Order: sequence, then structure tokens, then C-alpha cells
Amino acid sequence: MKRIIKSLTANLRIPHNSIRNINKTIMSRQLQARRTVSVCKNVWIEFTQLAADYKAVNLGQGFPDFSPPEFVQEAFCKAVSGGYQMHQYTRAFGHPPLVKILAKFFGRIVGHEIDPFEDVLVTVGAYQALFCTFQALIDEGDEVIIVEPFFDCYQPMVKMAGGKAVYIPLRPKVEGSTVLSSGDWVLSPEELASKFTPRTKAIVINTPNNPLGKVFKREELQMIADLCIKHDVLCISDEVYEWLTYDGNKHVKIASLPGMWERTITIGSAGKTFSATGWKVGWVISSGRNIQHMKIIHQNCVYHCPTAAQEAVARGFEREYELFGTPESYFQQLPAMLHQKREKLASCLQSVGLQPIMPEGGYFMISDISSVKVDLNDQSTKDEPYDFRFVKWLTKEKGLATIPVSAFYSPEHSTEFDKYIRFCFIKEDSTLNAAVDILRKWGQTQ
Ligand code: PMP
Ligand code: GLN
Repeated sequence: MKRIIKSLTANLRIPHNSIRNINKTIMSRQLQARRTVSVCKNVWIEFTQLAADYKAVNLGQGFPDFSPPEFVQEAFCKAVSGGYQMHQYTRAFGHPPLVKILAKFFGRIVGHEIDPFEDVLVTVGAYQALFCTFQALIDEGDEVIIVEPFFDCYQPMVKMAGGKAVYIPLRPKVEGSTVLSSGDWVLSPEELASKFTPRTKAIVINTPNNPLGKVFKREELQMIADLCIKHDVLCISDEVYEWLTYDGNKHVKIASLPGMWERTITIGSAGKTFSATGWKVGWVISSGRNIQHMKIIHQNCVYHCPTAAQEAVARGFEREYELFGTPESYFQQLPAMLHQKREKLASCLQSVGLQPIMPEGGYFMISDISSVKVDLNDQSTKDEPYDFRFVKWLTKEKGLATIPVSAFYSPEHSTEFDKYIRFCFIKEDSTLNAAVDILRKWGQTQ
């Protein structure tokens, strides 16, 4: 390129630099592909950096600050020292021991036979499962209904696939005085029905929901299923927190409802299942009719996922298959441990006037900040949504990192829901205690 510019400038007798500048302008105009233009902001990048910069007690990004259970750690170590195969490629669409146990495990729960090689795709975390799903099934102009609040990446992924996101918010029921539980946030059946059009290709749900902690009840899922069947629409069901439910709430798989297996894409994550978010093992389970298209995306982008991590996750599920429903099962122990952490955080938030919405599931809790009086005088954030400003203030001034909830809403609804912040409680008791200290001290000065 340099040589071409030199000979051009020499022949045309124009200054060398001006060609370089024109060239730069053209390059910068062409450099960015249009699909990336409106999706460049990312709440995790921004707020994880902020927490680190201020060395804040971090109840922001959702990850455990403790190790996964011994049995999966041991399985990982064994895999790594288990010979060359564990360090080489395995089957592209999922390590055979893993797809086999996922099919066996979830087949029992869904009540439908799952073919390990046709109906399961192992992915780089639930993120890539979602990416493959949208890329493989959503076309230019297809409409995708997204239930709000939603895990933030659904929106850019739908856009990058050329689809149009159509939003429907869960709203707090207005009966009674204060809304105290995530179960009080509901969809309006009429409003939901009105979102389905001939262009609707899919609806995305997330249960238990991040950030709200709502666990959709069977009747609520049935209402969604009825609409999917009526309008011949797919259901993309993000169930990464499926084992984490409290107070007797039961996670129901929409794929298990009559007529839903063929049209549901269920997404899971070993990061959440075994408290190992850094392993980045996820999966999609659906009818082979749907999975075959996702395989095409997968084989042309990552091809396959790390072998040793898949091996360890397979061993973890094999153990859990045998112990299912017993007190030794990690799927019983983890929610029991998190239940105590949830209580600790909720009672602290309550005592300082940050009204918590009690989550029925997951490991996040949102809190209503509308009655908290804070002088948000940081001019650098003055054009940002209220909750973004509040979270930045809390991180910088009090040393406590959280996440603004309006990041989980579309632009059309975000201002309606900008008076909530999200706390993550899958943290060591020492971390939670440090957060409680900060909040109590702050409470005394108010
Ligand atoms: N879905 C939801 C609802 C999430 O909270 C997350 C974040 N962990 C993901 C998907 C992505 O999961 P993974 O880390 O397995 O890619
Ligand atoms: N899922 C996690 C959360 O909700 C983190 C996602 C991320 O860091 N990209 O906090």
C-alpha cells in the first residue's frame, strides 16, 4: 500500500500526506461493518472496569467469587493429566461423553427422548448458544419478541442477525401496596398476544430471569406456549439458572409442555450449573430439525469447545444424574447455600431503605432506589439514565459495585424502569459482609 501511495503521489505531483489523509478517511468510513454500529456499548465492559478502577466490593458482574465444587475441579484436573486426547480436538458438535449425559439427563426432565448427536449442540458458554440460535434461525426482517427485563445480549444478537426486536415488559402488579417479590412481576396476556404478527419468528424468555429473579409459573409458560403454537413461532428459552430456585418455586421447562418440544430451543450453561463461569461450556437442546442449522454456524465460527472442560462437565452431570433429588446433589446444595445469602442481602437492603424485590430464583436481586435521596452531582454522567448515575455514584463514593437495571430494557421502556439497581449475591460471606458494612454505614449517615 505504501509503495502504491508513493508512486501515485510522484506521478500526480501531489503531496504525499494528503493522499494518506484521504486514504485514512476512506478507510475509516469503510472499516466498520454496519451490523456493529448500534451495538457497541456493553454494560459488563463498562461496569466491570469501573468496579476494578475503584477497587469496589463487587456485587456487580454475576460470577461466584469462590471455587466450583470439588468433584468438578477434580474431574478437570484428571482430564488435563489424562493423556493427549484431552488436549486435542474432540467432536465438533460436542464431546461424546458430554452430549450423551446431557441427552440422558435432560431427556428425563423434559419427558422426551433426546438424541445426543442430533438434538444437542455444545457451545462456548450460553453466549455462543444464543449466538448460534439467532444466526441460524433469524432472517432479515423477522420479528423476535423479547420479554423485558432481558439479558442484555439478546438485543444486539437479534440485530446482528438482521431481525427486529419487539419488546414486552413484565410489570409489577399494582394491586396491594408494595411489590415485594419477583413473582409479582407479570406479563399482560392481551399485550403479549398483540405483539404476535405474521412476521414473528420467535419469542425469547429467560427463567429464572436475570436480573429480576422471576421464575415463570407453569400457567404463565402455558400462555406463552399457546401463543407460540397458534402463530407457529419458536420459543428460545434461556434457562441458565435452572437449578437456582427458592421458597418451593419450581423451574418448569417450556419444552416439556405439550406441543412445545419441536419449537423450543433450550439454552443452558455449565458456568451457572457448576459455578465455573470461566470454563465457558454451554449447550443448546432442541429437536434436530432446529439444531442442524445451528451446527452450520458453529462449525464455521468456533468449530468446537475446549475438550478438557467438556470432559469435566460430563463427569459432573454423570454424578448429578445418580444423585438427582438427594441432599448430596449439588443442584440441591447450591440453592440451599444461596438461599442464606439471599436472606442476608435482602434484610440489609430492607434496613437501609433500598427496597429489595425478593427473587424466586437465580442469583441476582433488584432493589428499588426511587425513595433514596442522593445528590448525583457528577457532571460527567449528567446525560445518563438515573440508575447508571446512581450506580456510578455508589461505586465511586461508597466503594460498592452494582449494575443499573435499565441496561436490561429496550430504549422504549428503559426510562420506565430506571429506578432499580441489581445486586449479585453468589459471593463469599466475607464479600457480602463487606457490602453490608458499606450499606449500614451509609444508612446511618442518611
Ligand atoms: N444467559 C443469561 C441469562 C446469563 O445471565 C448469562 C451470563 N452468564 C448468559 C446467558 C451467558 O452465559 P455463559 O457465561 O455460559 O456464556
Ligand atoms: N451473566 C453475568 C451477569 O449477568 C455476566 C455477563 C458478562 O459478564 N458478560 O452478571
